[in-house]
Amino acid sequence: MELRVRREAWEGMWRDARARAPREAVGLLVGRGVAEEAWPLPNASDRPQAHYRAEPLALLTALRRADELGLEVLALYHSHPAGAPLPSAADEAEASWRVPYVILGLPEGQARAFLLPQGDEVKIRVEP
Ligand SMILES: [Zn+2]
Repeated sequence: MELRVRREAWEGMWRDARARAPREAVGLLVGRGVAEEAWPLPNASDRPQAHYRAEPLALLTALRRADELGLEVLALYHSHPAGAPLPSAADEAEASWRVPYVILGLPEGQARAFLLPQGDEVKIRVEP
């Protein structure tokens, strides 16, 4: 399995992650087969510097919008402003989506994707 992400969506996701540091960013990657857009979502966690929770109403609105536009949710992303791009215990415990979870590790400037809670890594391919 491979996650294909267009350059523009890739850069949008990183911009979001950097803009929200030291808080964790969260959002969706949507598209048709390949992720074309990054859609940031509010982080409703009460400790957003070390945890994320996509704000439920915003998430629902985004899912409806994707549906209306004929876009699939291809991945969820969130950032680790001070950590490695590896799933935390909470990331594994709270995972409920079957799509890959992209984790952006800001100190290393690297992103990795995993199926959670299994932990299988998914290769990310950034495309023009
Ligand atoms: Zn995390």
